[in-house]
Amino acid sequence: MDKIIAVKDKKFALSISAEEIKKNVKRLADQINSDFEGKEVLFVGVLNGSFMFASDLIKLITVPCKVCFMKVSSYEGTESSGKVRQLIGLTEDVRNRNVVVIEDIVDTGLTMTDVLHQLQAMEPASLRLASLIFKPESFRGNYNVDYVGFRIPNDFIVGYGLDYDGYGRNLPEIYTIFDC
Ligand code: 5GP
Repeated sequence: MDKIIAVKDKKFALSISAEEIKKNVKRLADQINSDFEGKEVLFVGVLNGSFMFASDLIKLITVPCKVCFMKVSSYEGTESSGKVRQLIGLTEDVRNRNVVVIEDIVDTGLTMTDVLHQLQAMEPASLRLASLIFKPESFRGNYNVDYVGFRIPNDFIVGYGLDYDGYGRNLPEIYTIFDC
């Protein structure tokens, strides 16, 4: 039986081991190194959830690169209110740079719709998205997730940077909520 753990008041079952994560992060780094051969990359990590993925991914990058992080303001109001999540703390000038955004998880894709739209308006030379996790069943965006670590069903997960109410980010593996 899969390993079961408690995070705060909920139970979670092991779903992606540290070994599998390591293997897929390496696959993504290899792809990025090959796609950007002879070029320079600006990695923009989205905090908080991407810190572990960004750290492991960037250690395997061999092309010249710079690294920065930003936050995205939480979504206020409803979609129809027209409010957009704002980018907070982006200190690098992205104009004419090859930007790779590093995200922990793309679920509905709405957060990244706002982020990519705002970054695109800053006129980067190229703009790509790397996400450790992608939930294709709930995705409603109209852009590509260029580098995907894992495609998973529409279940809530924790670990490897992802939290449940602030807890669980420290776990080296990924766990799926367990209803039983
Ligand atoms: P989206 O805008 O793509 O629906 O949501 C993206 C954000 O929702 C992620 O950055 C993350 O904070 C949160 N999120 C979506 N699904 C999960 C999940 O399964 N686990 C955790 N911990 N956060 C999630």
